Amino acid sequence: MDCPCGKELCNNKTVQENVPLSPLTTFGVGGPARFFVRATTESELFDAIHFAGERQLPLLPLGGGSNLVISDDGFPGVVVAIAMQGITAVEGTGGAMRVTAGAGEDWDAFVQQTTEQGWAGIECLAGIPGTVGATPVQNVGAYGQEVSETIESVRAYDRREQRISDLPAAECAFGYRRSRFNTDEPGRWIILAVTFLLRPGAPPTLKYADLARHFPPGSHQTLTDIYHAVRAVRAAKGMVIDPADPDSRSAGSFFKNPTLNGAQFAELSDIAPEIPHYPQADSTVKVPAAWLIEQAGFRKGQEFGHVALSSKHILALTNRGSASSGEIVAAAREIQRGVQSRWHVSLTPEPLFIGFPENSCLPEGAIRG
Ligand SMILES: Cc1cc2nc3c(=O)[nH]c(=O)nc-3n(C[C@H](O)[C@H](O)[C@H](O)COP(=O)(O)OP(=O)(O)OC[C@H]3O[C@@H](n4cnc5c(N)ncnc54)[C@H](O)[C@@H]3O)c2cc1C
Repeated sequence: MDCPCGKELCNNKTVQENVPLSPLTTFGVGGPARFFVRATTESELFDAIHFAGERQLPLLPLGGGSNLVISDDGFPGVVVAIAMQGITAVEGTGGAMRVTAGAGEDWDAFVQQTTEQGWAGIECLAGIPGTVGATPVQNVGAYGQEVSETIESVRAYDRREQRISDLPAAECAFGYRRSRFNTDEPGRWIILAVTFLLRPGAPPTLKYADLARHFPPGSHQTLTDIYHAVRAVRAAKGMVIDPADPDSRSAGSFFKNPTLNGAQFAELSDIAPEIPHYPQADSTVKVPAAWLIEQAGFRKGQEFGHVALSSKHILALTNRGSASSGEIVAAAREIQRGVQSRWHVSLTPEPLFIGFPENSCLPEGAIRG
């Protein structure tokens, strides 16, 4: 193919035009990328950044496409698939293992490898789709662990200052499903690699009843037992990508669990005294979005055109075949309205919304990627 760029610096063989994005997402929704580059090295990534900069086009780093709702109109700039590989491990202080993985490494395979090595810290995050480099973006979490608990630093390219920085975890502003990468400064950073401090020989984390039920009381579990149990529990909920399971054609949980301040929680518990709730260290209270949705009258499997709530897990919106991004947005807004009107609580979407015009009507609280 001829280089659409015409400039020497753009590593021209790698630039493709009008590449459909829906097959590159787990939702299976979205139009084409105006330009598309697969970066297997940092140098290819910088070429792509240069290519976008020269044309004043927006740039979208793409991992496994598992946390995205892409517009049917596609993305009018340069999509760069992050594919930098490589894992290194060295002993750190106090017996910890310092493990660095390239941003393009597959997250679940990385978790499996570390658990097989006997390094504790991320075993409960098995089965989460996507890449290592995307895990700090929303501080992925499940079954009692979040990546922020084991991340030592994030190596990232700063598009504003045009240089690479090693950001210690304390500078990443990690919170529940948030970080400086998705909230404070979306678009500024491209993550190149992530360094984790794992604990050789430490016992696995087994905090969740769902997971504990998987094992006979009092039994001993290895890290790999937990890895496989988490995958099994997740698969039963459609939360592991499986082409044979239509409930996994999703972006995972579509809404975050709301964290309410004291006054908001008091108001909610007046009308819903039975609601499960989890007090947080910062004196907010987390409540399950799934409970709010179900008790507002929605049901598993409920259809909204070609979109449906998962038949296994009410928090996931799924694409039942030929869903459009507009149908996903409409379904999400209907659920938000239902929960707001029944419980006076706002649900905030978890996935990022890509390529939607500024004036389009997205779900309340949606973050544009
Ligand atoms: C079935 C299913 C189950 C899920 N379960 C969970 C769960 O239990 N817990 C949880 O937290 N999440 C879960 N998710 C959401 C999702 O898997 C995670 O958020 C994951 O980390 C996204 O990774 P990705 O590589 O697919 O990122 P993408 O979806 O490709 O990108 C997500 C965002 O990160 C940005 N990004 C990606 N890579 C980089 C990079 N290298 N540098 C800078 N920005 C980047 C993108 O631009 C985009 O804004 C689930 C999703 C699915 C489909």
